Amino acid sequence: MSNVIAGFKPVAKTDNGICERCGMLCPKQTVLMASCDSDGVVDGMVTAHWGVCCAAQYCFGTKSESSRKKVLAMVEKADMERRMQIESWECRIATGTIQTYRERKYTGSGYGYWSDPISIDHGSIRAHANALFHRTGNPLFGTFAMTHPDGREVRTTGKADEVAHYARLGFVQTTVPNRVAA
Ligand SMILES: [Zn+2]
Repeated sequence: MSNVIAGFKPVAKTDNGICERCGMLCPKQTVLMASCDSDGVVDGMVTAHWGVCCAAQYCFGTKSESSRKKVLAMVEKADMERRMQIESWECRIATGTIQTYRERKYTGSGYGYWSDPISIDHGSIRAHANALFHRTGNPLFGTFAMTHPDGREVRTTGKADEVAHYARLGFVQTTVPNRVAA
């Protein structure tokens, strides 16, 4: 990720009222604009409330109804991606030692059915959390464990938005970042 802000993208609906782009009550609806790098990846280092009209002008060059609708569609998409992201983060939290899951079975021409539940007792919540992390396919380098006062554990990639999410849930970092190159 570069530290150069290359542009802004609409990422959420807000009801700020005043547009921070033009300083007026330009819109009926404001959207939260988040900074992104030159690859279009949102880093959220800078955010601002813009009217949907100003956002449409910025993103598509016009304030027409179709451009405004496209801005709101971008917001919906970002919102869905965020919900899916949060769900995948929360699926990685170990609540006990026993991991239960199903596997998709390959039938020769495709993945046909789910197996009966498979249960593994990892012996510790941390080992379970590590196993859940392993299934994501993310590299281990830079990852660390976070622990909740109630005993739940999770292994995080260490990315800022992910760590912030677990911290909001009450998890604190309990191991140093993994320094073993994959
Ligand atoms: Zn405006």
